[in-house]
Amino acid sequence: MSNYERKKATPCAGCMKAIKWIPVIFIASVIAWSYYAYVVELCVLSIESIFEKVIFLLFYHIISLLFFWSYWNTVFTPVGTVPSNWRIPEAEIERLFRAENQEQQKRVLEYCARDLPVTNRTLNGSVRFCDKCRIIKPDRCHHCSVCGTCVLKMDHHCPWVNNCVNFTNYKFFVLFLGYALLYCLYVALTSLEYFIRFWKGELSSGGMGRFHILFLFFVSVMFAISLVSLFGYHIYLVLMNRTTLEAFRAPIFRVGGADKNGFNLGKLANFQEVFGDNWKLWFIPVYSSFGDGFSYPMRNLEEDAESLLGHSDTRIEMEEDVFPETRFHDSIIP
Ligand SMILES: [Zn+2]
Ligand SMILES: [Zn+2]
Repeated sequence: MSNYERKKATPCAGCMKAIKWIPVIFIASVIAWSYYAYVVELCVLSIESIFEKVIFLLFYHIISLLFFWSYWNTVFTPVGTVPSNWRIPEAEIERLFRAENQEQQKRVLEYCARDLPVTNRTLNGSVRFCDKCRIIKPDRCHHCSVCGTCVLKMDHHCPWVNNCVNFTNYKFFVLFLGYALLYCLYVALTSLEYFIRFWKGELSSGGMGRFHILFLFFVSVMFAISLVSLFGYHIYLVLMNRTTLEAFRAPIFRVGGADKNGFNLGKLANFQEVFGDNWKLWFIPVYSSFGDGFSYPMRNLEEDAESLLGHSDTRIEMEEDVFPETRFHDSIIP
């Protein structure tokens, strides 16, 4: 039984699973309330001009549709997991367990990864593997302790979507941030006039309606402020072809060592890797990313190939002493 399956089978797993949905339910409740406050309290009950009502509602529903759709896809797109051909066979796990030193472990891992397209390495130049999932890790893949599995091109685990932001839903996540920001700005700007008039007591509608519009303005401004930096940061990461994890710790390459720009192909190519090359699909939350999630075009591919033919092992030999391998022994012993 894999670690992922074992985690799912524990008695508390059901409670934990339910608790993880609380942030998503909170966000969905805020969205549902804002829909009521904007459509009913502001547009239907407060705005007097029919023309203004129609225009406000038309654009509101277009933005809402794109916002809800991208949020839904971010939450419900399954994470990209590692297929069975990346698993380390039982016999090789035994050999890893019995290995007397790092060199032997490294050789076993190199053997297991002989037909796999891996260029990322650990600090000591060893092929990366997950001792929990017992797999060779593809490039940019990381183990998510919340999901309990290795996730392809993992960006981060986001509690607000109860999902890993990863290879399969990154475009949806960036669109979700963008449309959430647009939604908040649109609601704030179109409700500003009525917010001021209610504040001054110029509109007759009183009671709860007044408070719905006041809160609608405050909440949309508050969310817009927090979203603008997050959205801006992810646009920067898309253009640099970097995940959040890679921004904190640069990936290490078989040749060239640690390099934050290892996957950086130039801004347009980086953007297209996530959003695809058909501009008509860029702003719609349908899948259009490039690649398979296992291997990624690299900036210095040709230079790397040349170096590999020459003196590829020099750096690995030099770095051997740096990596503490004790963790492997601790985790592999049952
Ligand atoms: Zn794993
Ligand atoms: Zn996760």
